[in-house]
Amino acid sequence: MAAVVVVGSANVDQVFRVDRIPEPGETVLSTGFANARGGKGQNQAVAAARAGASTAFIAAIGDDGFGRLTAEGLAEDGIDSSRLRTLDGPTGTALIAVDPRGENTIIVEAGANGRLAPLDEADRSVIAAASVLVMQLEIPLETVAEAAAAARAGGTTALLNAAPIAELPDALLANLDVLVVNEHEAAHLRSSSGAAELTELVPTVVVTLGAEGAELHRRGGDVVRVPAPRVTAVDATGAGDTFCGAFAAALAEGAEAGDAVRFAVTAASLSVQEHGAVPSIPHRAAIDAALA
Ligand code: ADP
Repeated sequence: MAAVVVVGSANVDQVFRVDRIPEPGETVLSTGFANARGGKGQNQAVAAARAGASTAFIAAIGDDGFGRLTAEGLAEDGIDSSRLRTLDGPTGTALIAVDPRGENTIIVEAGANGRLAPLDEADRSVIAAASVLVMQLEIPLETVAEAAAAARAGGTTALLNAAPIAELPDALLANLDVLVVNEHEAAHLRSSSGAAELTELVPTVVVTLGAEGAELHRRGGDVVRVPAPRVTAVDATGAGDTFCGAFAAALAEGAEAGDAVRFAVTAASLSVQEHGAVPSIPHRAAIDAALA
């Protein structure tokens, strides 16, 4: 039985290093290339597992080499993939060109992620048995809403990382216990919902603030600000996902929300010191060492 269950996307990122981003009609040679596991769902599942939580991942991959690469990687991280579906067609893929200044252009093929629907009885049982459900918005919104409803029915804490930005139906918001957003997503939600405080929408809200750390807001409570350790950041890809996975793992262990934010800020500050999404996600021993 998994303590944390993640419902979300799995991608393979094809990362091309280039001296210059090509103009339309132009061909440029790559100066370096790597395939890296990514997708917000997968990143968050890996972060929860490496932070020490028994973790299950409900996701969809394609019947291709990238799907097999994804399944192998999940197994290496000890993630329960018994609810992983293999669908006809491609695995989610991102084609990323990055220049020496860090500017990038990205093309995303949602692939199987776009067809992760509907959830079935076995998925609902895994969600109901878990202590924390983690969701993001790179799969159909109806599936996210179904997962949140299953969490509510099973007494599982439902956490949504509301990224990428989307309009959230009231029925979904009503089934959430925790919202995690960065400053852009927080501003969008405030303006689109008309809420003065996001805790009007969801009782516990964490706003991540990049190098500044994170803020915990609770309905009717004081705001708790947790600064990030000063580190040399080389690549912030997956920092927010590392935060969400580590935060969920701490909540599943019974940590109080403020302590869970401290744990997650520490985990995310480790991830920005390494390149890539999945490769940069820290293990429990490193997080504990950084907290000590
Ligand atoms: P996102 O990646 O979703 O945009 P943020 O940029 O807010 O989210 O980063 C998420 C978390 O990663 C932050 O709350 C912080 O803990 C950590 N983090 C991000 N950038 C840095 C940095 N430069 N130094 C230390 N920690 C960082």
